Amino acid sequence: MLSKITRRNFFNKSLGLSAGALFFKNLPVFGIRIKETTPMIVTSHTNQTGQLAMEAGWKILAEGGSAVDAVEKAANVIEVDPEDTSVGYGGLPNENGIVQLDASIMDGKTYNAGAVACLENIKNPASVARVVMERTDHILMVGQGALEFARKWGFKEEDLLTEKSRKIWLRWKENLNKYDDWGPPDHLRDKQKIESYWKNFPEVEHHYGTTNVLAVDKNGDIAGITTTSGLSFKIPGRVGDSPIIGAGLYVDNEIGAAGATGRGEDVIKSLASYYMVLRMKDGRTPQQACEDALHMIIGKYSNVNPDFYPSEKFIAINKFGETGCATMRSNRNPIMSVRTGNGYTKYEGEIGYPDK
Ligand code: ASP
Repeated sequence: MLSKITRRNFFNKSLGLSAGALFFKNLPVFGIRIKETTPMIVTSHTNQTGQLAMEAGWKILAEGGSAVDAVEKAANVIEVDPEDTSVGYGGLPNENGIVQLDASIMDGKTYNAGAVACLENIKNPASVARVVMERTDHILMVGQGALEFARKWGFKEEDLLTEKSRKIWLRWKENLNKYDDWGPPDHLRDKQKIESYWKNFPEVEHHYGTTNVLAVDKNGDIAGITTTSGLSFKIPGRVGDSPIIGAGLYVDNEIGAAGATGRGEDVIKSLASYYMVLRMKDGRTPQQACEDALHMIIGKYSNVNPDFYPSEKFIAINKFGETGCATMRSNRNPIMSVRTGNGYTKYEGEIGYPDK
């Protein structure tokens, strides 16, 4: 696979072309790999629900359906899992105990996007985002307006707080402390102090968490979704990167798609998903593009707080069906779920900074 990308670079250089554009437009000429590795659907979720989601999305792709239908179907499976405290129903709430969801969708074929932020009481924010995308001239709807819009389109309202997520929130309330989200940004605080504080409360779940779903269909069209309950115990009204096109998600039908999870504040400032797609346009593989985005963010912090290593995880795919996945730091390599005609597999990516 790498040799093909090298060939592409050679092709561009030898003809003096701007990186990417012509090669991708001429894909059918070189299209052997499309048959080999696409259709394809991937997600950052690697648990059993992630696998079920891949099977649901794959069924659509295998029957010749569109990437946009496949990503919606797959994301919905993850959103309704009550055990998952990072996405949709059962997600961890904001500091007032209210679950507020963010989601975005992008359809490469139509160069169209839709998103919702701070949406309450609706189990499938990705589907609301799709209606915003297809049935309005808007891209991002928030809060009460997004809820009213969803109601008008017949989405059912329900309480998204499960017993499990309510209990976790209560534990957090009981341990409320000065290391919540009030005060200066984390990268200007003593990160080690914050981390050691949380080590004293291992039973208090406190996390980021989101899912990205990206797909290429049989026509080579690409789509993606990012959906989340966002940062647990966030200040009410906080919007993360997931519903921001270019930050938590980006799709370019001629190149590929990328999605982000982790500290949304970093991803918004760096427009990380857009950056990854641009890197792929410049000839980088999805794996390299994910690592490039990590390095870019760490580089930005190096003069401000060199000890600050945030917790993003990036995934990316290109039109050929190549995949990439990287995280800033971790005690194990990041993984993502991949479903193609060859079955379900887990792709293992790289840790950007293993020594930290
Ligand atoms: N990026 C999401 C947010 O900041 C959370 C996550 O992905 O873990 O809301």
